[in-house]
Amino acid sequence: MVSLRKSIEKDQIFGNWKVIDPGEKRYVQVICLLCNKTIKKVDYTILINDKYRSDSCGCKIKTSSKRHEMLNKTYSYLTVIDTENRYVKCRCICDKEIFVDYLGILSENNRSCGYYIILY
Ligand SMILES: [Zn+2]
Ligand SMILES: [Zn+2]
Repeated sequence: MVSLRKSIEKDQIFGNWKVIDPGEKRYVQVICLLCNKTIKKVDYTILINDKYRSDSCGCKIKTSSKRHEMLNKTYSYLTVIDTENRYVKCRCICDKEIFVDYLGILSENNRSCGYYIILY
């Protein structure tokens, strides 16, 4: 299990949680990507396990339905292909796949791959 622990790095994303401090022992400091507010220390064995990890700090319920409705819809240059997380996966007309904040898409601020945060 030691190797799994070492593979956790800063800015790595697990579900809706982003690592802000991988720490050195059992606990990893993470921030909830859905609200960008809640910071928690979680047991890394839970963080890396899809079954046991929580979806969000509890704010997910408010936002998930709107996001899920975006699946397979096209907004200007972007077609939404995965809505699991706040940063939805989109395919641009140039065929590039990018992750963008769904709120940016809805607010019409970010509808192409050209000028938005590329996380991966
Ligand atoms: Zn949250
Ligand atoms: Zn593009």
